Amino acid sequence: MTATDLDSRVRAYGHEIFARLDRSGPTPLTRAWVDDQLMGLTMDNPALKVQLFRFVDCLPYLHDPVDISRHLREYLGEARDQLPWWARLGVKFLPKGGLGGRLLAAAARSNAEKMARKFIAGSNVQEAVDAVERLRTQKLAFTVDLLGEATITEAEADHVQKQYFDLIDGLTREVNTWPEIPEIDRDDRGPIPRVNVSVKLSALFSQFDPIDPKGTGRAVAARLRPILSMARRTGAFVNFDMEQYSFKDTTLQIFRDLLSEPEFRDWPDVGIAIQVYLTDTEHDLEQLLDWAKNTRKCPVWVRLVKGAYWDYETVIAAQNHWPVPVFTEKWQSDVNFERLSRFLLTNYAWLVPAFGSHNIRSISHAMAVAEELKVPSRRYEFQMLYGMADPIKDVLTSLGRRIRIYTPYGQLLPGMAYLVRRLLENTSNDSFLRQGFAEGVSEEVLLRNPSESSFVIRPSSFEKSTMHSVNGQAGSSHTGGRMTTDETRFQNEPLADFSRAESRAKMRAALDAVKAQFGRSYPPVIDNKPVASSHWLDSVNPSHTKEVIGRAGMATVDQANAAVASAVKAFDSWRDTPVAERAAFLRKVADGFRTRRWELSAWIVYEVGKPWREADADVAEAIDFCDYYAAEMRKLDAPQHRDVPGEGNAYFYEPRGVAVVIAPWNFPLAILAGMTTAALVAGNTVVMKPAEQSTVVGAKFMEVLIEAGLPPGVCNFLPGVGEEIGPTLTTHPDVALIAFTGSLKVALAINESAAKTPGGQNLVKKVIAEMGGKNAVIVDSDADLDEAVKGTVDSAFGYAGQKCSAGSRAIVVGGIYDQFLARVVEATKSLTVAPATDPGCSLGPVIDAESRDRIKRFIEAGKKDATLAVQADVGKLAEEGYFVGPTVFADVPETAAIAQEEIFGPVLSVIKAKNLDDALRIANGVKYALTGGVFSRSPENIAKVKKRFRVGNLYVNRKCTGALVDRQPFGGFKLSGIGSKAGGPDYLLQFLLPRTVTENTLRRGFAPETA
Ligand SMILES: Cc1cc2nc3c(=O)[nH]c(=O)nc-3n(C[C@H](O)[C@H](O)[C@H](O)COP(=O)(O)OP(=O)(O)OC[C@H]3O[C@@H](n4cnc5c(N)ncnc54)[C@H](O)[C@@H]3O)c2cc1C
Repeated sequence: MTATDLDSRVRAYGHEIFARLDRSGPTPLTRAWVDDQLMGLTMDNPALKVQLFRFVDCLPYLHDPVDISRHLREYLGEARDQLPWWARLGVKFLPKGGLGGRLLAAAARSNAEKMARKFIAGSNVQEAVDAVERLRTQKLAFTVDLLGEATITEAEADHVQKQYFDLIDGLTREVNTWPEIPEIDRDDRGPIPRVNVSVKLSALFSQFDPIDPKGTGRAVAARLRPILSMARRTGAFVNFDMEQYSFKDTTLQIFRDLLSEPEFRDWPDVGIAIQVYLTDTEHDLEQLLDWAKNTRKCPVWVRLVKGAYWDYETVIAAQNHWPVPVFTEKWQSDVNFERLSRFLLTNYAWLVPAFGSHNIRSISHAMAVAEELKVPSRRYEFQMLYGMADPIKDVLTSLGRRIRIYTPYGQLLPGMAYLVRRLLENTSNDSFLRQGFAEGVSEEVLLRNPSESSFVIRPSSFEKSTMHSVNGQAGSSHTGGRMTTDETRFQNEPLADFSRAESRAKMRAALDAVKAQFGRSYPPVIDNKPVASSHWLDSVNPSHTKEVIGRAGMATVDQANAAVASAVKAFDSWRDTPVAERAAFLRKVADGFRTRRWELSAWIVYEVGKPWREADADVAEAIDFCDYYAAEMRKLDAPQHRDVPGEGNAYFYEPRGVAVVIAPWNFPLAILAGMTTAALVAGNTVVMKPAEQSTVVGAKFMEVLIEAGLPPGVCNFLPGVGEEIGPTLTTHPDVALIAFTGSLKVALAINESAAKTPGGQNLVKKVIAEMGGKNAVIVDSDADLDEAVKGTVDSAFGYAGQKCSAGSRAIVVGGIYDQFLARVVEATKSLTVAPATDPGCSLGPVIDAESRDRIKRFIEAGKKDATLAVQADVGKLAEEGYFVGPTVFADVPETAAIAQEEIFGPVLSVIKAKNLDDALRIANGVKYALTGGVFSRSPENIAKVKKRFRVGNLYVNRKCTGALVDRQPFGGFKLSGIGSKAGGPDYLLQFLLPRTVTENTLRRGFAPETA
């Protein structure tokens, strides 16, 4: 068949379907849902759509009528300017309480429930059974999907497994006794399973993470295997749903691994959803075919869908500067659907096709190709979603086609996320159903071959915003020359995408290569030369304390003085080096980091026990600091002129002199490099002292500086014991500036001694200090608990709580306290405590024995002041390394030590607050003001928290750690810091002195023209 013939057949099928459809009545998106005035309105009004869907999303969490009407008012109020006059008026007069408020709340709830029930078949197994019975009377087959909250605890994963047992048991018991309906219960060869269930693998393991495909696979398989066994035994079919892109490879791997096991190898009643909006789908299908045909030798079904997470994928890619994994033009997904429909139909003996689409063109195309390839029409089927496109289902059934309905069931609360996805899909401009039924686009246009749309190709906003991305791979293509077009431009370095096998392989290789280099010696470096050391300190791996990473030469007081002298000697020439050259030097350092990115991450994993992702982020942040400060310094380089006739005035900056940089171990590269490169690009020379615990990473940084062309003396590497050389450095009369990050106690001591100006010292030292935090996450009564629990646990236990930004207090408002606490406790128990080298590690060791013992003392004190809710057992790991199990205290009094003092370990205090004002009072009631977070879905409460939660970095509805250079300049006030924020526009000014030069240009009444 020629392409033209095929297209005629496609159109013929399409016209036939349209001819049988009634497009005049209430539109067939669902049972008349577009009749709903407000829903119709959202289609023309994106701002209202966002607000309305947000309201729908949080509605199930609201129990009090006053709360419901308040939220409705707040959400619609935010979109007020976009509303038509009558709706604006309505918002204004929305009742706040009383009978009107109650009625409004009841109406909102019942409407949302009605809307949800259009897409969700029931809330329990019996309702699901009733729903599928109704479907079968219309000759519609089904696949049942279990809606649930995000699985963030192992207890929840167990519960999901049990629900699947109940579902399969309940369905098979009933349905298999019903009379056969040959149209849906048979294909061309015989009976096919009537009971069909769909599973989402991430629901079966709380720590589902593609960074660890093996561990994830093992855990998912342990829960899924019995489900599959039961399905096989009872004659049910199981389909694996496909979720977000980052889960795809792991999902495919688990599918292939499990179904290759002897028990399931010859079982044909299994399938998997494949998303064609992904650009790499063809390759996945080829691999699946090869496996089914040549390895497994038994067919599997493929449910071909376009994909339900388009918005999410594009946002995540743009946010991370990763390549967009999906096509960015709708017609491209349509074309791919057609291409891959052909692929499936060509290989239907091994990949049994199920076309999941409501698009009449896509459906007609599959029919025409099947006809061309002589695929029996009962060998493949069409699948559609419950509550959508009902008339199309009727037409296809009347044409004798087998249609299966994806039928979700579950509680309303978790169901809202599904509902919002459906609403978004249906109201999207590109939706076939919207175009065909709500907007009356002509049949000709709707049935047009999607490849004809290619002439309208235009770069989408996402393509534009990601044009500079680095193929998703850390260190892959950023190699110099990038900034020649614009020296002041900055873009964050993309983090490594560990869902990609290449990234994982590079990390593993780096860990092996670095391990082979253990035990080397790292002496101090002055004037670019190693200097002799008589005192050596072993740097040990906190995950395995028997492993010595390297030996660090501890500098003596004499060497400290020599390092300062070297920096003094180098200062004049470095100060006079043009800014452009100093900035170019930082760019080279950044490139050096990129080149050695995986290696540096591996050193960080070993030396300070950071899990993979966090180690990579440490290196990425170091790169960011170099690029950002280089760009910022170029901006500051241009003098500001205020000339008048006869007088020239120039305002400009110059460096302060010798800077001492004293860095902590918790960001062993990023903070050390950040403070050092800021000082350097500003023209200061540096004596750099890394923390004793992270000297090897410090030495690696020094290597990168030298490789980038560091002139001798401009930066001197001085590992040493803080108590021994610290005072020499910080009180040295030739030191102009001290940049310190570390504990409050040491920072205050430095600040005090730096204020002194002994004889012979002709300057007052500048101190920049980043100190601690006792950061709080406020959880409002309407918070999305999935997000709040996960965000709080991530904030508290990321890098074992050893970040000054860590959220160590959760302040919970109102009635959700018990629910929140129960889930936080379970989520904490579910974390994987492991050596940092293990990719599945969610929590590694703490840095050293001293830290471990201090944290344990806090835990003991906490037991006296509050209720110990959970302290995870670290088992044998305690013998291997410095492990402390993540610990949660409940009902913590706000004045308790564990609620006031920085612990720097995996300890979370959960505190009850009466209301939001009370929560704010508690949150602000500590001596620190570094980071904070709030989880809330009330626009007014969020606005209040933004104003009144007085911290340096506030995060709304996300974790309170992980600040990015430029996007979230980092630093606090009160006793959290002296100075302005790292990675922000004011940071470099602290390393500079402003000068003004005024010149009288008038000579004998004659002056040059001023600009
Ligand atoms: C039975 C069934 C099971 C499903 N299971 C899954 C599943 O496991 N995983 C999953 O992700 N989805 C799944 N879906 C959802 C499915 O992906 C969407 O319903 C489907 O994409 C809608 O496509 P359509 O052909 O009906 O509509 P159309 O309107 O023709 O297509 C809409 C789709 O086009 C794509 N799109 C929209 N805008 C753009 C753009 N600018 N550039 C590129 N592409 C764009 C999106 O995928 C969007 O959903 C399932 C659907 C059905 C019917």
